[in-house]
Amino acid sequence: MEDRGFHEECGIVGVFGHGNVVDLIYYALYALQHRGQEGAGIVVHNGTKTRVHRGLGLVSDIFTESQRRALNGRMGIGHNRYATTGKATKLRNVQPILVDYKGGKLAIAHNGNLTNAKELRRRMERAGSIFQTTTDSEIVLHLVARSKAPTLPERLLEAVDAVEGAMSCLVMNEKQIIGYRDPRGFRPLALGSYDGMHILASESCALDILGAHFIREIEPGEMIVLDADGIHSRMVRTGRQHSFCMFEQIYFSRPDSHVFGESVNAVRRELGRLLARRHPVDADVVIAVPDSSNSAALGYADESEIPFELGLIRNHYVGRTFIRPGQRSRVDAVRVKFNPVVEILEGRRIVVVDDSIVRGTTSRQLVRLLRKTGAKEVHFRVSSPAIQNPCYYGIDTPRKVELIRSRMRVEEICSYIGADSLGYLTTEDLRAAVKAPQSYCLACFTGEYPTSIPQEADPLVFDVD
Ligand code: AMP
Ligand code: SF4
Repeated sequence: MEDRGFHEECGIVGVFGHGNVVDLIYYALYALQHRGQEGAGIVVHNGTKTRVHRGLGLVSDIFTESQRRALNGRMGIGHNRYATTGKATKLRNVQPILVDYKGGKLAIAHNGNLTNAKELRRRMERAGSIFQTTTDSEIVLHLVARSKAPTLPERLLEAVDAVEGAMSCLVMNEKQIIGYRDPRGFRPLALGSYDGMHILASESCALDILGAHFIREIEPGEMIVLDADGIHSRMVRTGRQHSFCMFEQIYFSRPDSHVFGESVNAVRRELGRLLARRHPVDADVVIAVPDSSNSAALGYADESEIPFELGLIRNHYVGRTFIRPGQRSRVDAVRVKFNPVVEILEGRRIVVVDDSIVRGTTSRQLVRLLRKTGAKEVHFRVSSPAIQNPCYYGIDTPRKVELIRSRMRVEEICSYIGADSLGYLTTEDLRAAVKAPQSYCLACFTGEYPTSIPQEADPLVFDVD
């Protein structure tokens, strides 16, 4: 029952429509693939039947055309699940989770992490609840199912009162889809419309792929109900300091999305400019670690007036490096993921911009690769501060001891990764790059968690296949 990491990075989408919604959900999940590559699922309801299909792997592999044809429905929700750092996920942990309860069918798709999940689950198990999965999302489902409130929104309200932590979720029965974002708003959730239908999705890029209109983001503490009468919104939980995840801006969201009222690309570009000001260096060329650092590297190039070049080409068919379990295979993934462009790198002084250093595996491998290709100097620049603390709110980070900055000083990291120089951003720089700095969580950088957190020795996450 023990696990090493903090998982549940995910993408979610829900569509309440008039025609068949399965293709809309499918394409939206496809656009959100970066939020979860380990498994995906779709639950649809067509007025009489609720159908579900879930699988391991990528959205395009799981939902073949014949699978999609079998999923006919006019309302539905979908979920992408992120790779875990440890063992591979089992199918039973892939969401949406669908159950039968006294009120009929109930499905949930959740992005976030509950910080009191373990405690809640223990209490429920003692009271006789049986869990089918090891995800904390199932806890919410149990709370909803046990509630005596007469309507689904009221049941969900009771459930969210019991949980703590990060939660952007979609809950569906045979009549309604309910979207909810926790009052701190750790994870994003956007609302859009397409051809008279309403869509909820983790990021606006999922609306763009459909040609849907972006209406707005769901507010922290807002509950929004999609049903045959349209949409109804209520601010159900207010008065908390907002804690938007800064890492969504730095790394996790797609740069073409608008998240927390900002263009992710614009924030990253500004982070790159700030990085050039904080850590300038004489060099011939700026390169990115594609794709997540492209915007920041362009910002660095703008500000430094050093030309930007495509010095590393990414193989898009390799999953994110974290997808491979165990340190050894992570190293292999880095090697197959990036190919250096010799004529850009040979004999040149290189500034390489990456969005983050977690364990130091990627940066070390990259510096070695750049030198082998003939780079004269390699200056590593990171468009975030050093990650020194694990995340308890839904971003996959290893335990503190595995975070390189928790064990080494910056100079030591520089020599460990083999760079000529190394420069990180500061938390002040992060704050300067966004419109509402006081609304962000920076806990993985500062250690100042906005909520109480579980003890490291007692990890709360149930994703423990
Ligand atoms: P590491 O190799 O452990 O230092 O990880 C740093 C690399 O992983 C960077 O290139 C990041 O773009 C990427 N990265 C950072 N955070 C995450 C995360 N939560 N999941 C997957 N990849 C990440
Ligand atoms: Fe995001 Fe870091 Fe806060 Fe986690 S601790 S929510 S990764 S900013």
